[in-house]
Amino acid sequence: MSERSVLVTGGNRGIGRAIAEAFIANGDKVAVTTRNGDAPEGALGVAADVTDSASIDAAFTTVEEAHGPVEVLVANAGITRDTLLLRMSEDDFSDVVDTNLTGAFRVLKRASKGMLRMRRGRVILIGSVVGLYGSPGQINYSSSKSALVGMARSLTRELGGRGITANVVAPGFVRSDMTDALDEETQKKYLGNIPAGRFAEVDEVARVVRWLAGEDAGYISGAVIPVDGGLGMGH
Ligand code: NDP
Repeated sequence: MSERSVLVTGGNRGIGRAIAEAFIANGDKVAVTTRNGDAPEGALGVAADVTDSASIDAAFTTVEEAHGPVEVLVANAGITRDTLLLRMSEDDFSDVVDTNLTGAFRVLKRASKGMLRMRRGRVILIGSVVGLYGSPGQINYSSSKSALVGMARSLTRELGGRGITANVVAPGFVRSDMTDALDEETQKKYLGNIPAGRFAEVDEVARVVRWLAGEDAGYISGAVIPVDGGLGMGH
């Protein structure tokens, strides 16, 4: 299973960067999409915006030429546009869905071509605890993340017989630019609800993603794997 062609979207920073680094440490051939910033050392950086199919297609072509068909796809790129329902514009909603959900669909569709030819592949969609738990001020974000569960499960039913697995990793509150942007009061409120009593570090999510893409997790598909210190238990 080593030396696979791995592609992580949004791998220039945060959780995506940590995921890329975990696969690099594993000896895989890793590519990351970037809009800004650099790829981590040892990864091939390809410019792509997940809201733009043409840029995704071009990025995959570059990765395929350099590393071969993508065998492990991690759809990680995501945004928030938090605000309460009555203040949420249609653009606030559709921009988040376009990146987090349709963006995952775009890369999944492109990756599936190579996976079907190889008759193997691992798809990991980065969801969120709030996809199933819910969160005030995040109707757009939680809707986009819960829909990834349907995506992974439908993909499992559609392509599970071709050696392809699809799972959702649902992090809780992870230290990154995305959560640093939340005000102190919101951070404190979340912390009070996390049984582990702390936020996660990015590499704690990355190691679970790497495990899900590995040999030991070959019979897991359509699952939602929480990495949330117990925050979403039972959801
Ligand atoms: P960051 O904001 O730190 O990083 C987001 C990444 O996504 C960046 O690389 C960003 O690129 C990229 N990205 C955003 N929009 C696009 C786009 N249109 N096309 C390509 N790339 C894009 O977030 P995190 O690392 O915290 O989050 C990573 C994933 O984990 C997201 O899907 C998020 O929803 C999820 N998550 C995060 C949690 C947390 O607590 N941090 C909890 C649960 C889930 P650029 O640098 O160019 O903006």
